[in-house]
Amino acid sequence: MSSTESELPESLPDFRARARAWLASTPPPEVPPDPDTRFTVLRRWQRTLFEAGWAGLAWSREAGGGGLTHAHHLVFVEELVRARAPQPIGLIGLEVVGPSIDRYGTDRQRRELLPRLLSGDDIWCQGFSEPEAGSDLASLRTRAVADGDDYLVSGQKIWTSWAHQAQWCALLVRTDTAVRKQAGISYLLVDMTSPGITTRPIRQMTGDQEFCEVFLDEVRVPRQNLLGAENEGWAIATHTLGSERGAATLRRRVELEVALDDAVDELGARGSLDGRARSAIGRAHIAMRVLDAQTRQTTARLLANTGPTPLDSVDKLVLNDVEQTVFAEIAGLLGPLRAVPGSRPAGLRSERWAHDHLYSRAASIYGGSAQIQRTIVAERLLGLPRG
Ligand SMILES: Cc1cc2nc3c(=O)[nH]c(=O)nc-3n(C[C@H](O)[C@H](O)[C@H](O)COP(=O)(O)OP(=O)(O)OC[C@H]3O[C@@H](n4cnc5c(N)ncnc54)[C@H](O)[C@@H]3O)c2cc1C
Repeated sequence: MSSTESELPESLPDFRARARAWLASTPPPEVPPDPDTRFTVLRRWQRTLFEAGWAGLAWSREAGGGGLTHAHHLVFVEELVRARAPQPIGLIGLEVVGPSIDRYGTDRQRRELLPRLLSGDDIWCQGFSEPEAGSDLASLRTRAVADGDDYLVSGQKIWTSWAHQAQWCALLVRTDTAVRKQAGISYLLVDMTSPGITTRPIRQMTGDQEFCEVFLDEVRVPRQNLLGAENEGWAIATHTLGSERGAATLRRRVELEVALDDAVDELGARGSLDGRARSAIGRAHIAMRVLDAQTRQTTARLLANTGPTPLDSVDKLVLNDVEQTVFAEIAGLLGPLRAVPGSRPAGLRSERWAHDHLYSRAASIYGGSAQIQRTIVAERLLGLPRG
């Protein structure tokens, strides 16, 4: 039984056993290669998880969540990955944008938006980056001008993952041009069906079209869709980026561990565990032990609810390096190393490794590039002079 607000939360061992039993009795879906079908299947999977009470475990009940702790959430993520079950499709909502709406949203925003986000009825995207504002995000130029009870929003975003499939967007806009650039930014929650929004998917080297250009032409956004106060969006954006770095690191650690185990099994089945393979697996395992050590601190911070800190940048850097090392080692052994045209490959595991190896190159770019994370570490953790 799950706990109620007045009871102590279910013990973690009991919770783990319950999660494991549910996953054993609920076969996870096969992930199809065609991106549109895959999207539909993973969205349905998100609904299955939600209806069974596994979505948003650490979120409040009012928001549609489980009212449990971050520790319960981490246990479930671990069991999900170990069961070789796919992640739900709405990870940007679940891990990135949702926590900021929960923290900074009005009661109405939380009540109306969060349950639909958890169930996958609404898929969210994150409209932060622009063609001239990626690393230097605070330079963003998409303008929002007050017009009665609305804002009129015009500009362009880029690299917006899932924008072509999303119902909602967490959009950073400039609402004041006369002040320091961080001080003139606001955070809007935008209905993607609003007139004036055009999305244009961009194909990645994996063959997927995961992200888009987004064009906004005098898009009318109700003022009540402002998250937090006008011109105070920068602090909320920092919270969103911190959530992206923290929770994703812990999930990714288990995913990498499982990927490495599966690769070793596959090499064994092929009779290919020769000296070269053993050396490569050894290097990948050493990288994983570094990630393990790092994520122990990440877990402690998450459980202590410290919120975003510059230490998140250390997590991200370690994860980038380990992810790229593990997939490069695996793909080097299991290849073929080639771009996959058209769609994500299915079936052949060796093609999955190629896909994941190619995708791992993005890890040191999305959520803030490795160079930028190193600058954060240098200036904010080590106190080195600004360059
Ligand atoms: C797979 C993927 C998914 C993404 N999804 C989203 C999304 O959903 N929403 C969203 O808003 N964005 C998304 N992004 C965009 C991502 O956040 C940006 O690509 C990233 O912040 C870098 O910005 P940029 O691409 O404009 O590169 P630039 O900022 O132009 O940087 C180019 C290079 O110069 C380096 N550089 C720039 N400035 C400095 C500096 N001051 N010091 C040292 N080096 C510097 C960078 O490290 C980088 O190597 C995604 C990116 C990828 C790859």
